[in-house]
Amino acid sequence: MKLLITGGAGYIGSVVAAQLVEAGHHVVVLDDLSTGHADAVPAGARFVHASLADAGDTLAEGGFDGVLHFAARSLVGESVERPDLYWAGNLGGTLMLLDAMRVHDVPRIVFSSTAATYGEPERTPIEETDPTRPTNPYGASKLAVDTALSAFSEMYGLAAVSLRYFNVAGAHTGEDGRVYRERHTVETHLIPRVLAVALGEGDSVSVFGDDYPTPDGTCIRDYIHVGDLARAHLLALAACAGNRHTIYNLGNGTGFSVHEVISVCREVTGHPIPAVTRPRRAGDPAVLVASSARIQRDLGWKPERPGLHDIVSDAWRALR
Ligand code: UDP
Repeated sequence: MKLLITGGAGYIGSVVAAQLVEAGHHVVVLDDLSTGHADAVPAGARFVHASLADAGDTLAEGGFDGVLHFAARSLVGESVERPDLYWAGNLGGTLMLLDAMRVHDVPRIVFSSTAATYGEPERTPIEETDPTRPTNPYGASKLAVDTALSAFSEMYGLAAVSLRYFNVAGAHTGEDGRVYRERHTVETHLIPRVLAVALGEGDSVSVFGDDYPTPDGTCIRDYIHVGDLARAHLLALAACAGNRHTIYNLGNGTGFSVHEVISVCREVTGHPIPAVTRPRRAGDPAVLVASSARIQRDLGWKPERPGLHDIVSDAWRALR
């Protein structure tokens, strides 16, 4: 297939781009490099430095079979401070992309949605049919896109899959030996921040709140290996057909608290990694754990590296 990957210079997009190139697809990456890196685009993919507003210029070439849409802002805390950026970028940018896809007859889209669409769940693990009540503008903007995709699919015959990522971590090694890892200029995610302390960057890691209604008081998340997550995109793309919009959760079904993550990072790195409790971060739900039963049943997805120790070890190895 000929595919456009928006945000393919970012952490997850670049791993999916690499796997698609390896599988023999014709890959074009579109990225404005606001958070991505041009050198993360895999060899074998063409790179277009442009924003979502200009995606139509690339799609106008014709012949595109689908879009994998990663380009977005993805920080919960930032979204609370700057909701305008999240609504304009995540919803406004996506609507421009969807319009360009209609104009240029691109039949399918695989969209990066998020566990943040659910908000504070009534039960865990979360299933796709559970209520969506996002607790921050990031989750709300992604949910709005999911809602638009359902309508576009029904009215315009767009084939769409939304993949709701839980907490993505780890690093991926391509068939050519190239290592793809998380490298944000401003890092807010837990595992890379903890590993940065082990590398000597900063004296301690902040634990944002220890008074949540969880066994140790810290937030619980479901961590998934970026390589496993990426493989789900290839399955979703193959299954993306007809005027259907399907939503799939992607996680491992096991939750780890912030303290548990830090403890696994201590084991893996052999570093004491001091932790200091700080106030809660705005917008954080207490517990997010996925049921991925639907994608396992429908598409046969199965994680190869579901263990937190493996996920952290891969992230750590990629840093050294
Ligand atoms: N967290 C933390 N210290 C950090 C970074 C994150 O305590 O330096 C917490 C955060 O409040 C949340 C969990 O770790 O409860 C996971 O946060 P992350 O930003 O990695 O992912 P999110 O769940 O927001 O997508």
